Amino acid sequence: MANKKPKILEDRAARILYLDIENSRMVLEFETYSLYENIRIHPRHIKHDWYITCAAWGWLDNTKKKVTEYGSVSVADFKTAYKKNFRDDRGVVKALHKIMSQADLIVGHNSDSFDIKKINYKFIKYGLEPLDLCPTVDTLKSAKKYFKSSSNSLYNLAKEFDVPMKIELPPGTMHKADNGCEKSLKKLVAYNKGDITAGASLYFKMLPYIKNHPNLNKILGEKQSPKKITKCGSCGSRRIKKDGNIYTNNARYERYPCLTCGSSTRGKKISNK
Ligand SMILES: [Zn+2]
Repeated sequence: MANKKPKILEDRAARILYLDIENSRMVLEFETYSLYENIRIHPRHIKHDWYITCAAWGWLDNTKKKVTEYGSVSVADFKTAYKKNFRDDRGVVKALHKIMSQADLIVGHNSDSFDIKKINYKFIKYGLEPLDLCPTVDTLKSAKKYFKSSSNSLYNLAKEFDVPMKIELPPGTMHKADNGCEKSLKKLVAYNKGDITAGASLYFKMLPYIKNHPNLNKILGEKQSPKKITKCGSCGSRRIKKDGNIYTNNARYERYPCLTCGSSTRGKKISNK
């Protein structure tokens, strides 16, 4: 007879990846008789398409609200390719493929609509296998869903919520980096890394408000007994205590607030509404 005892498949902390890419502008070229002509941009005008100049990431510990490990990659890291064509982002994309495949959850600001789609586009372009993409949290989506801020930019939310700010990038740096200036690219990478600190801190601050946060217990395949929730679904902390209820449209559930991150994890169903 099969063992009915709930089996913990993996008892480890979830690998939470905060990710941010910088991508170049496109270079367009067209001929015109007049500056006043209404020019419609067409793919044939693309002289150089956008490319991923650099990417930065951090592995997060939600229980400590800390970035435990930083990483970054830029086109200049691949010397031979960079010398030949500074727009060659194949190495960057391959590195991202490797990093992202290790994640249980990917977090970013505008990452669902921007970073992840841009990266996926490059995966298919370079013939890389599609990643079985893990659940994601996009703090821009969450900010729009749960708050009413005058601006949902990372800069503004970080400022308003008093989290470490992004570092400033001297004017023109991005343009120069896009056009092959290695020195400017180095500054852009530092800026990119600064985004990780700001973005991750914003995520930690917002965590208790993100009601639809993917449940880390489920992601890890930990079949916790529904009668006894032992870990917070948002941060993995064991400092949880049964208190109150969670209501959905159809039912009422036990609520397990987390003393570490302030989120609530749903327990067993108590009744239908
Ligand atoms: Zn928690």
